[in-house]
Amino acid sequence: MGASKNIPYGRQCIDGQDLKAVTDALTSGWLTTGPKVAEFEQTVAEMSGAAHGVAVNSGTAALHAAMYAFDIKEGDEVIVPPMTFAASANCVAYMKATPVFADVDPETLLIDPAEVEKKITPRTRGIIAVDYAGQPCDYVALRKIADKHGIFLAADGCHSIGGSLHDKKVGTLADITLYSFHPVKHMTTGEGGMAVTDNAEYDKRMRIFRNHGITADFRQRDGWFYEMQDLGFNYRITDFQCALGLSQLSRLPEWIARRREIAAMYDREFAEMEGLSPLGKLDGAKHAYHLYVINLQGENRSEKRKQVFNYLREHGLGVQVHYIPVHLHPYYKDNFGTHKGLCPVAEQAYEGLISLPMFPLMEDEDVEYVVETVKNALAGV
Ligand SMILES: *Cc1c(COP(=O)(O)O)cnc(C)c1O
Repeated sequence: MGASKNIPYGRQCIDGQDLKAVTDALTSGWLTTGPKVAEFEQTVAEMSGAAHGVAVNSGTAALHAAMYAFDIKEGDEVIVPPMTFAASANCVAYMKATPVFADVDPETLLIDPAEVEKKITPRTRGIIAVDYAGQPCDYVALRKIADKHGIFLAADGCHSIGGSLHDKKVGTLADITLYSFHPVKHMTTGEGGMAVTDNAEYDKRMRIFRNHGITADFRQRDGWFYEMQDLGFNYRITDFQCALGLSQLSRLPEWIARRREIAAMYDREFAEMEGLSPLGKLDGAKHAYHLYVINLQGENRSEKRKQVFNYLREHGLGVQVHYIPVHLHPYYKDNFGTHKGLCPVAEQAYEGLISLPMFPLMEDEDVEYVVETVKNALAGV
């Protein structure tokens, strides 16, 4: 009976309003950069409490653009957590700089400010904090460290759009905040991303970077003249993607509310369940729940996780593991000399992690099915 279920860990919501927004944009005469891009940037920036938004064609491109805005160069070091998607660290490698991994807090799996402080050297240029699973990091502590050392603080907010810390929104907690609009995230443009910031200079640099390094400053002077001032990329997003983004954005608050409801149901059920624990909560943080992660406890967690994971998959649950610590990937070992033991907390946590289904279209009975199936899985190991 259970095998007929098919519940992924995340799924986008696309409705008639989205279809109309996209077809309207497609027939408007604009395909790539047009009025919807600017409108989308403004709306996301406003919603985030930031002055500027620069839309690009992925969250990864947004991270890359932020590193360019901060003028990261070969020889520079940027501190990143290991418990994230590789793109959070790759953006540093793109600049030929060195990602330096600072371990996470064992309860929240968010970057641990005390570990960040230990990794600061004269070469450190900044910190990329990652709001793992959707919970904002301790930006109060991180800001103190950044200010003390005169380095930048970026927020990889790919999981946390709509979250807040002490009533300050994600988007206002760092010098630049990055979002992804990949379909598995809170809202989608197919592929897409955005960088939001209060800093006009960063905004300007990121706009140039996403368009080959070409400045638009001369557009007013001549019809034909432009200057390529630096080496940039084509990271532009299309107008119809931004039309989709705008349409999605109008439903974001209700989607986040539903994610929180689902998380509360899970929390109630898992609080007392033997053999696992949900992730810890940071004081003052309002979680946006991109993911709902459980951490298996007890002996032989790695083996147990494999069995539980397989059982859940066999019973129609598209569970996932977020993440293999980035510093354990061969690329990082080979190129940056990272190794097992470098971030023991993340490595230890990784062995027991499972991301359960979490998306707004889940019905209460889906949530109950997940809980029941997890219970049965644990009973069998
Ligand atoms: C999804 C994600 C990214 C990359 O976003 P893309 O839009 O897929 O390029 C970066 N960081 C984190 C934490 C993510 O979850």
